[in-house]
Amino acid sequence: MLEKVVIANRGEIALRILRACHALGIKTVAVHSVADRNLKHVAMSDEAICIGPAAPRESYLNGPAIIAAAEVTDADAIHPGYGFLSENADFAEQVEQSGFVFIGPRAETIRLMGDKVEAIRAMKAAGVPCVPGSGGPLPADDMDTCRRFGREIGYPVIIKAAGGGGGRGMREVRGEADLEAAVQMTRSEAQAAFGNPEVYMEKFLENPRHIEIQVLADGQGHAIHLGERDCSMQRRHQKVVEESPAPGLSAEQRERIGKVCVDACLRIGYRGAGTFEFLYQDGQFYFIEMNTRIQVEHPVTELVTGIDLVREQLLIAGGEPLRIRQGDIVMRGHAIECRINAEDPDTFMPSPGCVNAFHAPGGPGVRMETHLYSGYRVPPNYDSMIGKLICHGSDRDIALERMRVALGELIVEGVKTNIPLQLRIMADAGFRKGGQNIHYLEKRLTERKDKSIKLG
Ligand code: ADP
Repeated sequence: MLEKVVIANRGEIALRILRACHALGIKTVAVHSVADRNLKHVAMSDEAICIGPAAPRESYLNGPAIIAAAEVTDADAIHPGYGFLSENADFAEQVEQSGFVFIGPRAETIRLMGDKVEAIRAMKAAGVPCVPGSGGPLPADDMDTCRRFGREIGYPVIIKAAGGGGGRGMREVRGEADLEAAVQMTRSEAQAAFGNPEVYMEKFLENPRHIEIQVLADGQGHAIHLGERDCSMQRRHQKVVEESPAPGLSAEQRERIGKVCVDACLRIGYRGAGTFEFLYQDGQFYFIEMNTRIQVEHPVTELVTGIDLVREQLLIAGGEPLRIRQGDIVMRGHAIECRINAEDPDTFMPSPGCVNAFHAPGGPGVRMETHLYSGYRVPPNYDSMIGKLICHGSDRDIALERMRVALGELIVEGVKTNIPLQLRIMADAGFRKGGQNIHYLEKRLTERKDKSIKLG
């Protein structure tokens, strides 16, 4: 069992990790930037160390400073949360070489999955269904080969950065005439954003849903899946609403794709919590990538399965074998998560500043994950997500009802938030019907904008 964990993150996920540690009797060290002295988990942690200025590069991305903090506090493990260094294989390696436990998979697994071309290759070999594509990087100076791939795969295609993430480094191509420019542009963007110019080609699926499978593995021969999440409500490839189970997915489909993921985990010796992301269209799953960390939307899985995923991460990192068996996983009811962002609900411009008043909603099946409190100042230096509201009910309609009431009850004053947008989504007939594809939200937002311009 771990005794003291450094929480190398901020905001709601840092607080979530702190709570899981304290529930297990594990001491915590908060490492934070100058701008984050007033974070809730910093006040609640056993120890706190300021590791640098507000700029992420000098604090939350500063591996040596984080490892030094683990050394001076005599901690035994580092939890990276999501984002920042959570999928940085070099960091994971340095952590382990410095004698600490990295709470996540082995560095080589992170490295494999961080290169999407390699990840797809490995998953194909493990029997995971993938999107038809180039099956490898596009050659840098050979447009003829690129054009041949395009013809074989069939347009439209999508050019994606091997090192991409966060919905960036992707470009749709409708026909051969646009191919060369798209490949060149994505390549230079990928070089600038990820330090790796490698790109690959995939069939562009026209109306898929985004469905992902949560797994847990102990790296000692045990792995299970915890069903799926539907994250199709997206804007600019970023998730806005997530739910579990995915509307309309049958138990047989879940078991089939779940087993494929579990087998792949065992094959690659996966350790920890992880997510296999798929596009789902016409009843088929197509692997797009694996996330080797805890995800923002993990609570919807926790609410339907009753399993505390962060607790399991900590137990696995402490060297314990997974005690939960596949047969223990029963999905009960339905859970929906709304991401709450400090941003303008119409223009999506970030809105940092002082939260003059904050009231969290409550009631049956309502869970609020946030670091906010009245008087807290949202710094301008980080992601605009300030919390997540998750509602559970015995069926989807009840979860939706509870979400509508809870969103109405949630008060965040002083900064703009996307609560009005989330209320509109919850009231939207198409969303209420369920099973919409990844383009649905964006289409509805454009329609609304067009309408307001006409009325305006
Ligand atoms: P990232 O790591 O940046 O999140 P992903 O590969 O997970 O990149 O893709 C993010 C999103 O981009 C998907 O959820 C989907 O909306 C869109 N996308 C990715 N690949 C395809 C594809 N082949 N066809 C259509 N849309 C895609």
